[in-house]
Amino acid sequence: MENAGEGCKVVLTADRTLMSNYHHNEFVGFGACAPPNFIPDWLYSWLFFPPIKTYDGVPVAAPYGLRKIEAQLLREGFDVVTVDQDYLAKYIDDAKVLCIHVMDPFGLGPASSTLASILKKEPFLSQYFRALMEKPEIGRAKKHGLKIIVGGPGVWQFTHRPEFVKKYGIDCMIEGEAEKVIGKVVRAALNKEGLPQYYEVPIEETPSLEEIPDIIAPSINGMVEIGRGCCRGCKFCSVTLRPLRWYPYEKILKEIEVNTEIGKEALLHAEDVMLYGSKNTIPDDEKLVKLHGTVLEKCEGIGWSHCSLAAVASKPRLFSKIAEIMLQKQSWWGAEVGIETGSPELTKKIMPAKAHPFKPEEWPDVVRTGMGLMHDNKLIPACTLIVGVPGETEDDIIKTIELVDDLKEIRSLIVPLFFVPMGRLKDDNWFEETEANKLHQELLIRCLKHDFYWIDNIIDLAFKGKWYAKLLRPFYRLFVEVIRYKAKKAGIK
Ligand code: SF4
Repeated sequence: MENAGEGCKVVLTADRTLMSNYHHNEFVGFGACAPPNFIPDWLYSWLFFPPIKTYDGVPVAAPYGLRKIEAQLLREGFDVVTVDQDYLAKYIDDAKVLCIHVMDPFGLGPASSTLASILKKEPFLSQYFRALMEKPEIGRAKKHGLKIIVGGPGVWQFTHRPEFVKKYGIDCMIEGEAEKVIGKVVRAALNKEGLPQYYEVPIEETPSLEEIPDIIAPSINGMVEIGRGCCRGCKFCSVTLRPLRWYPYEKILKEIEVNTEIGKEALLHAEDVMLYGSKNTIPDDEKLVKLHGTVLEKCEGIGWSHCSLAAVASKPRLFSKIAEIMLQKQSWWGAEVGIETGSPELTKKIMPAKAHPFKPEEWPDVVRTGMGLMHDNKLIPACTLIVGVPGETEDDIIKTIELVDDLKEIRSLIVPLFFVPMGRLKDDNWFEETEANKLHQELLIRCLKHDFYWIDNIIDLAFKGKWYAKLLRPFYRLFVEVIRYKAKKAGIK
C-alpha cells in the first residue's frame, strides 16, 4: 500500500466527521450534528467520530457515496486516489482535481439545524467541513490551478452559502446521482475547460442499474446500497423525485465481498429496506427473505439504514421472519424511521402515501402497530418527527404529542426536527426556534423524556459483546447524565 496514490491527478476526500467508522455504530455518528458542549472537543470527536485507520493516508474505508464516485472514475480510466483529510498535503500537489463528498456541510440538515438553533452554536460537522476547506495545502494547490468539485447529499446547502463558494474557490457543485456526470466534469477540469458551477443532475442523466458501478474498496461500516429511490412521494423529501431501482442479489453480494476485506457486517442501505424488490408499497416476501438469508451467509451481522412503519405493519409475519433470520447472529438491529406526525390531517396534506397500503387517516395506528412490532422483534428505531411544517395546526401538534405518549413503552429514540425546506416544499420558509410555541416546546420535552427513559437500555444493547464497550460506555453514560442534569436545571423532570 505504500505511496498508493501519489502522483494521482484526481484526489477524493471528505471531512473528519464523514471519514470515521463511529466506533462501528452508525447511530454514534449522529453526534457530529451537535454543537460543541461541555465535553472537550478532542474527547468529543474521539467519542463520536474518531479518525479512520489509514495506510499512507489512504483510508481503509470511506463513505459509500465517495466509493461509488471512485469506482466510476476508475471505470472511465482516471487516475484516482481516496485520501483521508489529514494526509491531503502528501497527495494534493500532484493533483489537478479535488472531489469532496458532503452530507451536511453547513449544518442546515434537519438534525443539526434543530440542535444549533436550540443551543445557539455551530454544529461540529460544519466546523469540520470549514476546517477542511481552510487547509493551507488546499489553498496552495488552488493557486496552482486545482479544481474543486463537491458532491453528495448535502450539496443543496451550497445554494444558501454563495459567499462560501466564492471564498474557497469551489469550481463545481453536482447535485443528484453523479455516476453519469462525474466523468465528463472531471475530464473538462483536467482539460482546463469551463465547468458548470451548479449541476443539478436531470432525470435523464439518472443512472440505470447497469450504469451504477460496484464499489472497489470498502465502505464505512460495510454499507451497501440495495436500491435507490422511493415511491411514497412525501412532499418534504427530495429522494422521492428519483426513479425506484432495486439492485439484483449478485450486485449486492459483490459489494459485500469487497467490504468483508475489513469487516464482517453489512449495513443495507435503501429508503425502505422492507420494500426490497417491490414495485409498490407491499413488501415482497420471497425477495426480502432471500436477500437476508443470502447476505447473512456472508456476514456476521446486518443493519438497516431506513425502513417504513407502513411496510412493517402491512406484513407482521414477514417482518418477524426477517427478524428471526437476523437474530441468529445478533441481538438487535437499528434503522432510521420516519414518523413525522401523529396527525391524520397533516399526513393527508404532506405525505399521503406514507401509510400506504393503509389510508392516511390510519397513520397513527400504523405507527403504533409498526413500532410495537419493532419492539417485539428487537429492531431499535431512531424516529424522526417534523416540527413546523407549512400548514401545521395546533391540533396537529397535540395529536403528535399524544402519539409520542402512546409510544412510551417502545424501545426507541424519537427526535423532533425543525422543518427544512426540501423536495417539493423547497421554496417554503425554514422553521426557526423563535417560532416554536408552547405546544412545540411540550413536544420537544416529551421526546426528550422518552429518549432519557430508553437511552441506558439502548447503550447497553448497542455495545453488548464489543470488546471496547467497557472503555466507551462510561463516557456515553456520562454524556447522557450531564444532559439529563442540564434538562433538569431547565425545568424538565
Ligand atoms: S420521506 Fe421517506 S418515505 Fe417519504 S418520500 Fe422520502 S424516502 Fe420516501
